[in-house]
Amino acid sequence: MDAYDVIIIGTGAGGGTLARHLAPSGKRILLLERGDWLPRELANWSDQDVFVDNRYVSPDTWYDAGGKPFQPGVHYYVGGATKLYGAALYRLRKEDFGELKHHDGISPAWPISYDELEPYYTLAEQHYHVHGARGEDPTEPPSSAPYPHPAVSHEPRIQQLADDLAAAGYRPFHAPCGIMLDESNPPFSTCIRCATCDGFPCLVHAKSDAEVLGVRPALEHANVTLLTNAKVARLDTNGEGTAVTEVVVDREGGEERFSADVVVVACGAANTAKLLLSSANEKHPNGLANGSDQVGRNYMFHDSTAVLALSREENLTAYQKTLGLNDFYFGLDDFEYPLGNVQMVGKSTAPMFRGERPRDTKLAPEWTLERMARHAIDFWLSTEDLPRPDNRVTVDGDGNVVLSYTETNLEAKKRLYGKVKSMLGELDMNPGHLIHRFAYMKNDIPIAGCAHQAGTARFGTDPDASVLDVNCKAHELDNLYVVDTSVFPSIGAVNPALTAMANSLRVGDHLLERLA
Ligand SMILES: Cc1cc2nc3c(=O)[nH]c(=O)nc-3n(C[C@H](O)[C@H](O)[C@H](O)COP(=O)(O)OP(=O)(O)OC[C@H]3O[C@@H](n4cnc5c(N)ncnc54)[C@H](O)[C@@H]3O)c2cc1C
Ligand code: SF4
Repeated sequence: MDAYDVIIIGTGAGGGTLARHLAPSGKRILLLERGDWLPRELANWSDQDVFVDNRYVSPDTWYDAGGKPFQPGVHYYVGGATKLYGAALYRLRKEDFGELKHHDGISPAWPISYDELEPYYTLAEQHYHVHGARGEDPTEPPSSAPYPHPAVSHEPRIQQLADDLAAAGYRPFHAPCGIMLDESNPPFSTCIRCATCDGFPCLVHAKSDAEVLGVRPALEHANVTLLTNAKVARLDTNGEGTAVTEVVVDREGGEERFSADVVVVACGAANTAKLLLSSANEKHPNGLANGSDQVGRNYMFHDSTAVLALSREENLTAYQKTLGLNDFYFGLDDFEYPLGNVQMVGKSTAPMFRGERPRDTKLAPEWTLERMARHAIDFWLSTEDLPRPDNRVTVDGDGNVVLSYTETNLEAKKRLYGKVKSMLGELDMNPGHLIHRFAYMKNDIPIAGCAHQAGTARFGTDPDASVLDVNCKAHELDNLYVVDTSVFPSIGAVNPALTAMANSLRVGDHLLERLA
């Protein structure tokens, strides 16, 4: 059996970032990824292939609490979900690290403060080439360095939207974008600023994803090995149950076993929970590291609404994700609870509407889908989803993920939608035509849209109420760590990837010390 210093399971935002951080140490590192390299092919940028035919979505079947099967929006590739993500790389707000009162209850505090994570946010922004402008977003947390790259400019229709919002008294800002665009030197820019970014893989490897900026830089070091199509089925422990001794892998139809001084799980929130629960043994009868009964619980994924407004004039924008609005993040004058974040989503096209099957196109019968797409300005509204013990991942007798989920914070979600609707009504839009989209979800089963899944193995100081300690080491095992979004005690209302990357770098520093 091959032995390593560190095994990292999963190569997405958490695992890929950790691999890059540990690679220069010279330690023997094994990356185990259930997926393959995402093929570079013209279909990467085909809305038909990506949004209608779900070419890059896993064929997994999961089940809801009632036993109804669904295809989850998950992506098994080197780089994980970041291969398809929109690369909106936000920091959580400083307040998100403390306890926050919401309409539906409490968003719990993190066991670390914003200030402790801040240096790692800065490093993650550098690794992932984040473009942005400090000082525009009224809820922006303090930062020790400027964005490493200037904000991506708005295209004319979005600049007009920004101007209109500002004139109406709102404070739109340039959204933090992880794309390798050099607007000062276009012939040498890796990114060509195209319309097929958010939700698509990047054919030219210019998106700041965890394959391009995590795994590939890690593999430049001879001490790092990657095995693809290597699905970890189980983690075995010593007799006392205090350490993982073997990582059991399904690969090419057979079983392979590996061992390491340190084992790090980063399979994404649902699959991390599944792996721990599937690794139950005599010493861990409810699942590995699950004496607290918290593994799989507190699943969160943002209360999101994708909507499009129909602009009177055409919206010819290609790369639309340049604008954000956090004016309602912590509430409104007449609503004291947080509402959430407003940002742009990738520019819609007619095939996307067909892929998403929008129920509400019938609201605008005089508009063909093509005409609608030409005039659409697309928004993404996110309200914080609160951690609830009964919102959870379990594993059925056949080893399938079962996702039990009831929405939280619906009043805040409704109010955010109402606020955006009235705000856009003040601007140059067709009144009354705010149309729902199912962006990222590709069908109308809300729980299938698990792009922002988080929270199934939270870290904390109390072993009875959390799975991991402050270093994201399992309370109950000496050498088992988790570094993906499952560690989140709360999810805030901004996109989660940069926080997973920053936390991974933080845990990485702890591991470098431990392994020194
Ligand atoms: C369409 C889309 C758009 C998004 N847009 C944004 C955005 O704009 N901004 C943002 O911040 N976030 C965005 N996200 C979310 C973001 O991509 C995720 O939050 C982030 O990638 C989560 O990181 P992770 O490490 O937890 O999991 P992942 O990145 O999903 O990585 C998990 C990895 O583990 C592998 N794996 C799973 N099980 C096993 C196993 N048993 N054995 C071996 N390997 C395994 C998977 O194949 C995968 O590579 C988006 C997601 C999607 C799908
Ligand atoms: S906008 Fe840039 S990063 Fe995004 S898919 Fe196009 S080329 Fe790639």
